[in-house]
Amino acid sequence: MDLIDLHVHTNISDGSFSPEEVVRYAIKKGLKAIAITDHDSMEGNERAKKEGDLIGLEVISGVEISAEFSYGTLHILGYFPWDSNNNMKERLIVLQKAREERNPLIVKKLQALGIQIEFDEVKKIAGYGQIGRPHFAKLLVEKGIVKDMDEAFDRFLKKGGPAYVDKFRFSPKQSINEIKKNKGIPVLAHPFTIDLDNDKLIKKIEEFVNYGLEGIEVFYPEHTLEQKMFYIKIAKRFNLLITGGSDFHGENKEGIDLGIGKGDLRVPYVILENLKKRFR
Ligand code: AMP
Ligand code: FE
Ligand code: FE
Ligand code: ZN
Repeated sequence: MDLIDLHVHTNISDGSFSPEEVVRYAIKKGLKAIAITDHDSMEGNERAKKEGDLIGLEVISGVEISAEFSYGTLHILGYFPWDSNNNMKERLIVLQKAREERNPLIVKKLQALGIQIEFDEVKKIAGYGQIGRPHFAKLLVEKGIVKDMDEAFDRFLKKGGPAYVDKFRFSPKQSINEIKKNKGIPVLAHPFTIDLDNDKLIKKIEEFVNYGLEGIEVFYPEHTLEQKMFYIKIAKRFNLLITGGSDFHGENKEGIDLGIGKGDLRVPYVILENLKKRFR
């Protein structure tokens, strides 16, 4: 069976592999196609596509938008046909600026907590890509302040944590609209992070469907079998595409490997065929 991965980060956002490296790694892992879905940026997509064309991997252009949400975490994936002239990259600049404003404030909060940390150290970890919370987490591990990245999030960086700083985000409606206006297919990422009980989750998803949501990420390393079955039911009810991916971040997300997640993820190529049928 041909396998794919539709949720992949590079060092353009908070992954540790460059766009070229992740494409080479996908070939090594025997994958047929991957989608690049960096947070709030599409700057790595063409580079990955170029490398894919060169060495024989299908690369899909994507993005992952962190939307405004009062419950858990809401991420919307967007998948785009290559041949469309769209304005999506430019629309993401406002989100990249919001990150740039937020990041020094996280440093200030960590300093106020008595941690010796400088913004330059975070920049060094991130390299030339945009900075995200995993880079702060990695630095806290390197400094020996926490034992691993999970602890860094739990103790400091998670939503509502002592070093958490909010940033400007698109609303769910705006996120979906921006993707659609630019000829993309909006898909709800890892629905378990929404953190609502089943009845409330259905209502939320119905609201998103009314805004134009077209898919739901069912196959995801953290989803239990029960959750996957429930999300498939939701997909049928609202006529949503089913997608899947590992959310690979390289070294910046421990225990998650490209294509296979924690080891048992399998996303068949037919999922990408169905997605491509919706490209307009
Ligand atoms: P940001 O977009 O900069 O606010 O950072 C959010 C990102 O942090 C998410 O997209 C995840 O990639 C990452 N993240 C969240 N929780 C954890 C965790 N416990 N360990 C590692 N990475 C995490
Ligand atoms: Fe991330
Ligand atoms: Fe996400
Ligand atoms: Zn992701």
